[in-house]
Amino acid sequence: MSLAEKLARERRARLAAERLLEQKQRELFKANQQLAKHARALSEEVVEQRSVAESARSEAEQIKGQHRRVLSDLERANSLAQMAERRLWESVETIRDGFAVFDARQRLVAANRAFLVVFEGRAEAAPGVSYRRLLEICAHEGLVEIGAATPEAWVARTHARLDSEPIEPCVLHFRSGTCVRLIDRRTQSGDMVSLGLNITETLRREADLEEARERAEAASRAKSAFLANMSHEIRTPMNGVVGMAELLCDTELSEDQRLCADTIRSSGEALLAIINDVLDYSKIEADKLTLHPEPFDLERCIHEVAMLLQPDAGSRGIDMIIDFDMFLPTRYVADPGRVRQVLTNLVGNAVKFTEEGHVLIRVMGYEVAPDGGGDARQLHITVEDTGIGIAPQDQARIFAQFSQVEDQSNRKFEGTGLGLAIARQLVGLMGGDIWVESDPGAGACFGFSVTMPVAEADAAPLDAPLAIGHALVVDDNLVNRTILERQLVPYGVEVTLCRSGEEALAALDAGSEAFDVVLTDHAMEGMDGLAFTAELRARGHAMPVLLLTSNPAVTRDDPAAAGLTGIVQKPVLRRDLIARLQQLAPPAGGGAGGRAMRVLAAEDNRTNRLVFARMVGDLDIALEFAADGREAIALSDSFAPDLIFMDISMPGLDGRAATRAIRAREAERESPPIPIVALTAHAMDMEGDAEGMRADGLDAYIAKPLRKSLIVDCLQAHRPPATRPLARMAAE
Ligand code: ADP
Repeated sequence: MSLAEKLARERRARLAAERLLEQKQRELFKANQQLAKHARALSEEVVEQRSVAESARSEAEQIKGQHRRVLSDLERANSLAQMAERRLWESVETIRDGFAVFDARQRLVAANRAFLVVFEGRAEAAPGVSYRRLLEICAHEGLVEIGAATPEAWVARTHARLDSEPIEPCVLHFRSGTCVRLIDRRTQSGDMVSLGLNITETLRREADLEEARERAEAASRAKSAFLANMSHEIRTPMNGVVGMAELLCDTELSEDQRLCADTIRSSGEALLAIINDVLDYSKIEADKLTLHPEPFDLERCIHEVAMLLQPDAGSRGIDMIIDFDMFLPTRYVADPGRVRQVLTNLVGNAVKFTEEGHVLIRVMGYEVAPDGGGDARQLHITVEDTGIGIAPQDQARIFAQFSQVEDQSNRKFEGTGLGLAIARQLVGLMGGDIWVESDPGAGACFGFSVTMPVAEADAAPLDAPLAIGHALVVDDNLVNRTILERQLVPYGVEVTLCRSGEEALAALDAGSEAFDVVLTDHAMEGMDGLAFTAELRARGHAMPVLLLTSNPAVTRDDPAAAGLTGIVQKPVLRRDLIARLQQLAPPAGGGAGGRAMRVLAAEDNRTNRLVFARMVGDLDIALEFAADGREAIALSDSFAPDLIFMDISMPGLDGRAATRAIRAREAERESPPIPIVALTAHAMDMEGDAEGMRADGLDAYIAKPLRKSLIVDCLQAHRPPATRPLARMAAE
């Protein structure tokens, strides 16, 4: 090979190597560049990673701080909660009563010692135990008195309470002597809280109280029995005293003798009133007084009270006025005896404390709907007087027992100071109120309000119709005119009202109407009743004329009264007025004769028989006495009485037994029942026993001491139409 060739080859090889180098250099550079880029990126990444790590670390630090705070908060909260719970339970532990909490499944969560102590350390009685199991421990292990029930039944019953809402409390008597009232309540979350109230002491005190009450009641019963007995023992001899004194007063007496007899009578009556007051008060106090509501005529009752007190008022010139709202019904259901008692007290006081002027009894009322439906009235009954009145500071006090307005001016009035206290109690029993308004010196107005059901009207108020078609009534007092009209109209009488004698004379003279009877007031302004009657007779009018007067001194022997047919004392009782009018026109067939009314009086006491005989001595009746029950039965046959007065306490066969026997015979023979009126010194017995009295067949009763007026009223009410009038009326 040539050198050139060798050189060329060498040069070519060198050139190739140079090119390779160049290429490798370029590649290296590129790689270098790439590497630098990578390195840069890597370092950037590192920087970035580092900052992420940094922030993560600080975040972690932060979280760690937070965690520490939360932990300490929690710890604090925990200890607070523990403290609260400890306090709560420490407090709950201090109470003597048992306290426990059960969860919704009735498992015991916690209980205080007082709750668990009754289980006497039984290990089972601990949190986790069920309510039912606790009851079972009580029953089966004899911790609790369960009475006659079996333990199973007792547990079932006591546990079943939990199903109701609210849960009924129950009382557990532990054998240890402890008594617990168990009260269970559900909480909002469904737990149940049980409270075991320790009522051992309370029950013991209750038992003590009950025992004390029983002792007091026994004492009070003994007191009432003693009082009732005493009243009986006093009334019986008083019957002789008052009755005989009354009769004595009706005889010819010297002035001195009359004073003595009057004093005996009025003292006796005062004593009786006191006995009655004391007896009533003690009965009310002992809660022994019950009301006996029945239908009665309130207006009549008020009239009767007014009439009773009229003599006292009239003798001092005090007008007694009754204003019974004419739109009110008159018949109500209430205890008539007690209503009368309240009225008698108020009207009696009004008369007692009034020197001159008037006593006005006013009845107003309005409709109310009673609880049980029906028709009722709220009645306002006031008694107004023009007497000494009562100072404001005394007005509340006088309703307390034994309370009187103590001052010199007052001591001249007698009384026990019990009247208003009794009236207040009675009105209270009737569910009403009582009050007083007064202007000292000008008068007092006592009032009470009670609600009374309206009673059905009397179906047949009249046994014999009046043979009077048209009556002329003359009275200057509107109230009296109205009342008379209301008394007459129901009996089918047409009534013409005149305000004065002159007006009446004009009506009579006009002759357009025929009057069968004239009823005239006595004391009228201008022409009085007597002058009017004289004038009427002078003008030739012949019809009967009745004078209505509150002056007991007017009699038909008075020459000025010559023209009168009869005299009626005011206030006029409807029953009396009607009886008088019936007498004016005797029923056809009865004639002037007829037979005398037959009256049988059964009475074992000789003095009382004497008193009775004297009281009815001036009446036109046929009287027979029976000395005991057996005689009464016999005479009820042989004598065929129209009316029997029956003493209740007689030796042997008493009045009630005799009455039952008489009723039995009547029933057997189907003969009409003879009215029988009981006479009793034990008035209180009858009052409390209206039903028993009726069951025995008694129609009514009269309390001893006997009063002539009551007996006459009674005779009047039961006199058969075919018999002669009671009064020996030869002159009429
Ligand atoms: P007493 O039996 O004393 O009348 P009351 O309880 O009925 O008992 O009355 C108590 C007192 O109230 C009377 O004593 C009298 O002082 C006073 N009092 C009652 N009613 C009236 C009246 N209408 N006017 C003045 N005072 C009266």
